[in-house]
Amino acid sequence: MPRVRGHFLFRVLTLTAILLPAGPAPALRAARGSPEETTAPATGATVIIGATVLDGTGSPGRKANVRISEDLIVDVGGDAPAAGDAVVDASGLTLAPGFIDTHSHGDDQIFDLPDATAATSQGITTIIVGQDGGSTYPLERFFRRLERRPPAVNVASYAGHGTLRDKIMGSDYRRRATPEEIDDMKRLLEKEMRAGALGLSSGLEYDPGIYSSPEEVAELAKTAASFAGRYISHIRSEDRAFWKAIDEIIEVGRQARLPVQVSHTKLAMRSLWGQAHKLIARLDKARASGVNITGDMYPYLYWESTLTVLFPERDFENRDVAALVLREIAAPDGLLMTQFDPEPSYVGKTIAEIARLRGSDPVTTLIEMIRSSEAMRLETGRSVESVIGTSMQEPDVEALLAWPWMNFCTDGYLEGPHPRGFGSFPRILGHYVRERRVMKLAEAVRKASALAAANMGFHDRGMIKAGMRADLVLFDPATVKDRATPGAPHAVSAGVRSVWVNGVLVYRDGKSTGERPGRVLRRNP
Ligand SMILES: [Zn+2]
Repeated sequence: MPRVRGHFLFRVLTLTAILLPAGPAPALRAARGSPEETTAPATGATVIIGATVLDGTGSPGRKANVRISEDLIVDVGGDAPAAGDAVVDASGLTLAPGFIDTHSHGDDQIFDLPDATAATSQGITTIIVGQDGGSTYPLERFFRRLERRPPAVNVASYAGHGTLRDKIMGSDYRRRATPEEIDDMKRLLEKEMRAGALGLSSGLEYDPGIYSSPEEVAELAKTAASFAGRYISHIRSEDRAFWKAIDEIIEVGRQARLPVQVSHTKLAMRSLWGQAHKLIARLDKARASGVNITGDMYPYLYWESTLTVLFPERDFENRDVAALVLREIAAPDGLLMTQFDPEPSYVGKTIAEIARLRGSDPVTTLIEMIRSSEAMRLETGRSVESVIGTSMQEPDVEALLAWPWMNFCTDGYLEGPHPRGFGSFPRILGHYVRERRVMKLAEAVRKASALAAANMGFHDRGMIKAGMRADLVLFDPATVKDRATPGAPHAVSAGVRSVWVNGVLVYRDGKSTGERPGRVLRRNP
């Protein structure tokens, strides 16, 4: 069992509550390969009847029949199905716009896991990759590859600042870029924007972005702005220099005049705890002054990253910094190794446990572990360690989730060590909405769909309305619940019944259908 601080106990759901069908097996269009396949409907249309529709605007739910034809929602209202329509009886269930994950790490895995069950099983119909400053380069080739072998979900991407920096500066990146190098990065960014990138992403706590000056980032953001793009950022600090980092992203929005979004928003240090309302006030003030700043976040008290990210000065041998990390950011029993190639037996253990095994203290253990993993990383050129760290507290998470401009994300892989990859959206709907009543269900659906679409610049998704693309999720608000944990991070959630992407059923009752109707979503001109 994982020993992560803040690891939640949750009730074991009765299987009957999850698996009871809503009624007789409905006829389903595009359910090829599923046991519910029936004779092909004559009209080619599907009508979902009897659901409570939450349309994504935040309005209260209303009973309506939703008619889908091809990849579009064509009617929302009282009209009964016509002869020859396929009918899905959704009585007792809630129908919402497909959820949009605005911070996904599915970039590479999408080709190996094209069903993207981690996403569809949560009701996610679109993933946004190219995050934290890292994107596939060049995007045009990535997009064409996706179009040749489409996955189950829609995919959009940012162009990563770190990727551009790496292309221009190579291994000589531990310094500020020269004006000429910034110009070269701009030219690459222009190419990525023309390919359809949503904008610029940065990862300013990671190499190589951490060595950039704020001016470099703002200059590149101006290029994104000239294409009507946006800026999304893993900000320069989520702990020790947090307020300065928030000021930096606001300043990028002000100078470059483009929408900016804080990635996986969190207050990840003890001395920051209890300051969610101060953060919200700072963001609201920036908005009132004309900066379109928004955020995304996942609903857990623990993050997943590297040990090295805890040392912003990269002074891994500094005992004072190591001690501060273990005192202020994550305790030794709150740092759970999920990868450690120099000593694979450490996986699943915390720094506290590893220190005991080594007969050492946590500070020394942390320093020695980074020493060996950095040596291996430099030798092999790949990442060799990752860790789940518990650094947040519940009242902050609840207040931030409820901020009206905060949409949701997973920050997850399609198969990764953190349960957020499979559990984020059902965890919000189950734990935070139904159990904790942090916000109304209609508001949570708005944030997961229409707000996320607006924050990514999508105009034809995120709402249930005639003319919108038919990305839809049908779920049971009484039972929807995440089941993934650090010990079982790939457990699919309960209560998500059916998911459509571009009008095609991709997930039903615990399983992917094998259909792959996902599209590349290039930036809207
Ligand atoms: Zn990040």
